[in-house]
Amino acid sequence: MRIKQLNPSIANQIAAGEVIERPASVVKELLENSVDAASGDIDIFLEQGGIGLIKIRDQGRGIAKDDLVLALSRHATSKIATISDLDSVRTLGFRGEALASIASVSRLTLTSNNGTDNIGWSISPDNEVAAEAHTRGTTVEVRDLFYNVPARRKFLRTERTEYLRIDEIVRKISICYPKINITLINEGKITRNYRSSHSNEEKIRRLQDAFGKGFTENAVYLDECKEGMRLSGWVSLPTHSRSQSDQQYFFVNSRVIRDKLIAHAVKRAYADVLYQSRQPVFALFLDIDSTSIDVNVHPTKSEVRFTDSRAVHDFIFGVLRRVLADVTPKDLIKKPNTDQQIPTPIQSGFVMEGISQAPYSNTILDHHKTFLKNIVKETDDEMPPLGYALAQLHGIYILAQNEYGLVIVDMHAAHERIIYERLKVSEENLTVQPLLVPVTISVTSAEVNVVNLFSDEIDALGIELTIASEESLIIRAIPTILPVSNSEELVRDVLSDLVELGSTRRIFERRDEILSTMACHGSVRANRKLSLEEMNGLLRAMEKTKRSAQCNHGRPTFSVLTVAEMDSLFSRGR
Ligand code: ADP
Ligand code: MG
Repeated sequence: MRIKQLNPSIANQIAAGEVIERPASVVKELLENSVDAASGDIDIFLEQGGIGLIKIRDQGRGIAKDDLVLALSRHATSKIATISDLDSVRTLGFRGEALASIASVSRLTLTSNNGTDNIGWSISPDNEVAAEAHTRGTTVEVRDLFYNVPARRKFLRTERTEYLRIDEIVRKISICYPKINITLINEGKITRNYRSSHSNEEKIRRLQDAFGKGFTENAVYLDECKEGMRLSGWVSLPTHSRSQSDQQYFFVNSRVIRDKLIAHAVKRAYADVLYQSRQPVFALFLDIDSTSIDVNVHPTKSEVRFTDSRAVHDFIFGVLRRVLADVTPKDLIKKPNTDQQIPTPIQSGFVMEGISQAPYSNTILDHHKTFLKNIVKETDDEMPPLGYALAQLHGIYILAQNEYGLVIVDMHAAHERIIYERLKVSEENLTVQPLLVPVTISVTSAEVNVVNLFSDEIDALGIELTIASEESLIIRAIPTILPVSNSEELVRDVLSDLVELGSTRRIFERRDEILSTMACHGSVRANRKLSLEEMNGLLRAMEKTKRSAQCNHGRPTFSVLTVAEMDSLFSRGR
């Protein structure tokens, strides 16, 4: 067998396989070209889910008559000229591949007017250039996608599914370019109209057009800069999570990007407030110096490589973690009448971990009385977000009345979070209370070993232990914030965490988990009667505590039932 050069049209078809997978990839490439041509208005017409027809019309720069043939040939681009241009690409395209690829697997007609004369020029599927009336801008008409590649056609889904994928890519690009007016017309009907938005308010409207109204109402806006990077956009409140990761949008320099590193940073930022299996919703925009990324990683340009990926990861993690920490109950309680104003429990039927049925001892009660009372005094007359306590229900919930209705608080979950955050804040120098009567406990030799190995780490947790024998320890002090009466259980649980983690590095990384274990021992259990004063103390503490709208496991700590909602329970006012 001799080697032969493939003819260009076959070579193009093979190359097209990488870029053009389905109608949505055609739409993505054509939209990107219109964006690069600085069009303020783009119309997309579809027939049969894009399989029969995709026609995109823009009002951009246009293409010169003499460049039409070139525009359809491979490796022909007006966007870069030298390899060094790749270091600082500012356009979405640069590979000079899309039009050639699409033309090789469909019947493509390109019509354009670049404003040099009054008419437009068009190039037909059989490469004939002819005059064609066209106002300034470009129209690309793609018919019968994959008519000549049956293997690909076979893999297409129903017209409806292909349409939905196009809808999704249009949504993503529209969020990135709020100034461009984008209209999607399917089978002659307008199905989307992303109106151009210039002010911030309009941008929010644009996001609502894309995600629905509930999104911005249940999300936090952020915009922060650091060392040549800027992160802006919206992240959902932990209570507005989903079971799937289908509403997570990330854009780097206005490109739609998928990236494991970034996904990891976001997941870690939510780890402390979101239940494991739940997924946040977000639209985040990272702007970064174009010389610090490589966009030429993948033919579809859906991935980038960061020069300093660690810095990007840490920046995103740091910003999100802080933003989420600052969400307080007040942010979650909004005026009624705007629909969906209350945080809805993320999932019903959770097993309440950590709630023991044992009644709370009096020493713990005293311990918390002083703690809670001190907080009560600081409030002024205005109605606080979580209102004032009315009663306790079944030893589990606090009922309170606020401006809008009834507030129901899971007291153990809320208190646990408060203690946990206090432990984390005082991480550096936990105040410790020496026990008046040191407690001797019997332990296994493995646990004694752990005390030997990790004495510094145990010290840092505010726990003072001495080894009494091969199988016993003496507890001499514990953090002031935790009740003395529970010290034995506390130490046992911390030791078992340490045995399990096994190395200093892991202890350091999982410190929050250990603190969370400790917090559980400090919080009020079910079936503990609280006075109104104590309940109010807890509510005030919640209002001031970071992340207090979720317990340490990511479940909500409170819910609000508005008067309007109660009215509807009784068919009142109808
Ligand atoms: P790339 O976008 O990577 O340059 P394409 O194959 O997508 O490659 O397009 C080839 C060239 O055709 C572009 O570089 C651009 O000059 C021109 N072009 C394509 N679409 C448009 C458009 N809608 N408006 C103006 N010029 C366009
Ligand atoms: Mg392109």
